[in-house]
Amino acid sequence: MTVHFPFQNSYSALPDSFFARVAPTPVAAPRLIKLNRPLAVELGLDPDMLETPEGAAILAGKTVPVGADPIAMAYAGHQFGQFVPQLGDGRAILLGEVIDRGGVRRDIQLKGSGPTPFSRRGDGRAALGPVLREYIVSEAMYALGIPTTRSLAAVVTGEHVIRETALPGAVLTRVASSHIRVGTFQFFAVRRDTDAIRRLADHVITRHYPDLLHAERPYHALLAGVVARQAELIARWLLVGFIHGVMNTDNSSISGETIDYGPCAFMDAYNPSQVFSSIDEMGRYAYANQPRIALWNLTRLAECLLPLFSDDQEKAVAEAQDILGAFSETFSAAYQAGLRKKVGLFTERDGDDALIQDLLDAMAKNQADFTLTFRKLGDAGGDDATDVRTQFMEPAAFDEWAGRWRARIALEPQSTTERQAAMHAVNPIFIPRNHRVETVIQAAVNDDDYAPFEELVKVLAKPFEEQPEYAAYADPPLPDQRVLQTFCGT
Ligand code: AMP
Ligand code: MG
Ligand code: MG
Repeated sequence: MTVHFPFQNSYSALPDSFFARVAPTPVAAPRLIKLNRPLAVELGLDPDMLETPEGAAILAGKTVPVGADPIAMAYAGHQFGQFVPQLGDGRAILLGEVIDRGGVRRDIQLKGSGPTPFSRRGDGRAALGPVLREYIVSEAMYALGIPTTRSLAAVVTGEHVIRETALPGAVLTRVASSHIRVGTFQFFAVRRDTDAIRRLADHVITRHYPDLLHAERPYHALLAGVVARQAELIARWLLVGFIHGVMNTDNSSISGETIDYGPCAFMDAYNPSQVFSSIDEMGRYAYANQPRIALWNLTRLAECLLPLFSDDQEKAVAEAQDILGAFSETFSAAYQAGLRKKVGLFTERDGDDALIQDLLDAMAKNQADFTLTFRKLGDAGGDDATDVRTQFMEPAAFDEWAGRWRARIALEPQSTTERQAAMHAVNPIFIPRNHRVETVIQAAVNDDDYAPFEELVKVLAKPFEEQPEYAAYADPPLPDQRVLQTFCGT
């Protein structure tokens, strides 16, 4: 028996300049610690086979499966605003692509599988902590209904990686609708390789925006498509309190998925200027800056596409600006519509945006927990809101607002029960809170204990459902449990 991957690779058929052919580096003693069985099935893989030693060897990069065409993708990128002309997969290797059961092409990539020609000074490896963090948070995002890369498996390598200390090494198998980034376009733009930009754009349109294949101006439409998906994605992030942490252009996906989970985190208390990442000293990637940064990244993408727009540079720039202009409107529409749902409004009226902003302002001033405030507001649904007001340092700040909220929802015909159901469908109880993620990582790294990891992953798979036996997972950290910083821990 062999583990069968039904690969149908397309990226590795692009010109040689798009990637480097490189195999994963074998590791000492691979051990599978988690397989995402439902995802395996979705991809047309046999989960039982993946759980055999042969399967674990593949997921650790020790064996290359039949049909794989392993490559490290080339890309460039702006890191904290500074342009780096060559980054590329320094510790990730794309095994190949499969067509999933829904007919969608998906990348299967190993992250932490050894050095590549793009590794520079890095070791090509990943530590167990960040692998578990990416597994937990990406799968939580999926369960929240937010476009994201997925996690198929986590394997420990039986080797140590040297960071500030020696840590257990691990490999994550990541699944994406593609790993093409804004930085992939930048890689060719800085080399003035317009043919490659056109090839890449055509590949992206075929793969991610097939409706545009016959558009009158496909490259303009492509930019508009990426702008729309990114605007909607960032709105979704804000609506659950997610902070990506490293929105560099190389971590910004063309397909509109959340990608490259590093020092990302969900906020507990609502604070628009919240930053967790230890390396984000200026707060460039703070919670409320994310829409602005996404537009900045998209502007970099637009610059790459200019040569495809028109030979007349001025005309091309004007057209690009026009397309980028849609970002704010698309973002605001998605964000405001999402907020209206979070507070239980079924319709849109003048004054709604201001009403909701006043709630957010009161939450910020009173350090109200972002997730629990909205969830408990849904429990109330218009009636008794004691559990909401106790989220506020000064509960009176909520009472004043609640009076206006009740008056507003009274204008809608839906019953309290209907409103509660609608609110509960958009306001999660369970998010991957930092202190929980840290506890899980410590148990795995220090005690080789994966039971807490399993339990957290299980709870987060149903974020909108009451799970009375796991109610404590909904709680914000106690003051001494608060995690103030997250680290790249590459
Ligand atoms: P990031 O912002 O963490 O996604 O990574 C930025 C760049 O650094 C990418 O080119 C990565 O592939 C590379 N990189 C990060 N960690 C390592 C590592 N341990 N070894 C080699 N390259 C790495
Ligand atoms: Mg990255
Ligand atoms: Mg990376």
